[in-house]
Amino acid sequence: MPKKIAVPPRKFRVFTRRDLDRIPQLQRFSSDEILAMKAVTWVLPFRVNDYVVEELIDWDHVPEDPIFQLTFPQPGMLADKDLRSMMDLLRKQASDADLQREARRIQLSMNPHPAGQVELNVPRLEGVSLPGMQHKYRETVLFFPSSGQTCHTYCTYCFRWPQFVGLDELKFAAKEADALARYLKAHPEVNSVLFTGGDPMVMKTKVLRRYIEPLLDAELDHIVSIRIGTKAPAYWPQRFTTDDDADDLMRLFDEVHASGRHMAVMAHYSHPRELDTPTAQSAVERIQNTGAVVRCQAPLIKHVNDDGQVWADLWKRQIVLGAVPYYMFVERDTGPKQYFEVPLARAFEIFSTAYRRVSGLGRTVRGPSMSATPGKVLVDGVTEIRGEKVFVLKFIQARDPSWVNQVFFARYDEKATWLDGLRPAFGEKEWWFQKVIGEMKKQGWQPSWGDRSRAHKKVTHFGHVEWE
Ligand SMILES: *Cc1c(COP(=O)(O)O)cnc(C)c1O
Ligand code: SF4
Repeated sequence: MPKKIAVPPRKFRVFTRRDLDRIPQLQRFSSDEILAMKAVTWVLPFRVNDYVVEELIDWDHVPEDPIFQLTFPQPGMLADKDLRSMMDLLRKQASDADLQREARRIQLSMNPHPAGQVELNVPRLEGVSLPGMQHKYRETVLFFPSSGQTCHTYCTYCFRWPQFVGLDELKFAAKEADALARYLKAHPEVNSVLFTGGDPMVMKTKVLRRYIEPLLDAELDHIVSIRIGTKAPAYWPQRFTTDDDADDLMRLFDEVHASGRHMAVMAHYSHPRELDTPTAQSAVERIQNTGAVVRCQAPLIKHVNDDGQVWADLWKRQIVLGAVPYYMFVERDTGPKQYFEVPLARAFEIFSTAYRRVSGLGRTVRGPSMSATPGKVLVDGVTEIRGEKVFVLKFIQARDPSWVNQVFFARYDEKATWLDGLRPAFGEKEWWFQKVIGEMKKQGWQPSWGDRSRAHKKVTHFGHVEWE
């Protein structure tokens, strides 16, 4: 049985753009500062809940406070002229239509879909494409349940501006879950399913159950792990402790575990403070009491966590709780990137500083890692080879599985913030994988590991699959 905890329940209350004037803690800002916040919220999503406002933000230290930076609109997130034009419209009390038109113009200038993430990796089943899924890496299918496309609070740097879909959730869930299960049955090479969003944990347990239960089918014994990528343990830990259906959620995790699979909560923690509250700590404890494991990941974000000591503290706190440091990501090339971005060279320094300050128990973490078009690319070192200063890069995931764990070299560049800003080292004209990527692109990004529909499933052990 899930452990009872002493923290009193809190009822979820959310603030959006229209509520900015009603957040008492914001009264310390001038009316111009509030206007600037409003201007930003027309362009970028804003949503914050009372737990974040009351327990995570240190209001004596705003605006520099990292959780305030993480969740509240910052004037620097828009280019000066865009901020001014939105503020002028607000001052003039322009119509919503005019505000929206200007906001849309600005949004479109902000690279809303980086690396073709949306269209590139959609798998097909019996000739029909399955838009709620991505199958980019052989072993893992990413699944976006349509009822999980919002979050308990939005991160200011996130550009997935989720739309809340007001559909018949249960019916939709059943239909989508059926497609997912059928796809997985046809794909024995997959051994991990990763639920993502938005945040799948905004779903009620009974909806989530519709998605997860079909995966526990005996015919899907090649599925070794089910993961849920979520920020709820940081933004709304009550989801795992005192919410009405928190106990039922724990039972669902229990069931996954009992089915002989690994249940992993891939928790997005950006800052050690998110693990400070008793509720946050008991959320981790309760999840782990079910046999599930909490693995932790977050992007490196200027103004939020661009400091080695912050990451060392974060990983140490995770270790204390038995949670596992997993990834440090490089922020994607999208949205208000100029405000949040950290150059790769600096990211590597921050990572190394933090990595040196934890014991081997924290060195399960990998990073800084870019989720780029060819794969997940780690900045694994900075060194000099035959007089040339280089970045040592490494594929930790790749569209072509044979690239995984291969290192390659880029010319050192102090300012570059993403793979596409780097050049190959040693005077080479293009990356060695560039031609293959070009071919893959031409073929509509069909997976490189063969036609799985003809695969003969041969599960050996622990989900290892061979097929002819
Ligand atoms: C990161 C990622 C995964 C999961 O990769 P792991 O190395 O198994 O954590 C799967 N699919 C996509 C598209 C990803 O970006
Ligand atoms: S929790 Fe994840 S999906 Fe939601 S706003 Fe933050 S980064 Fe984006």
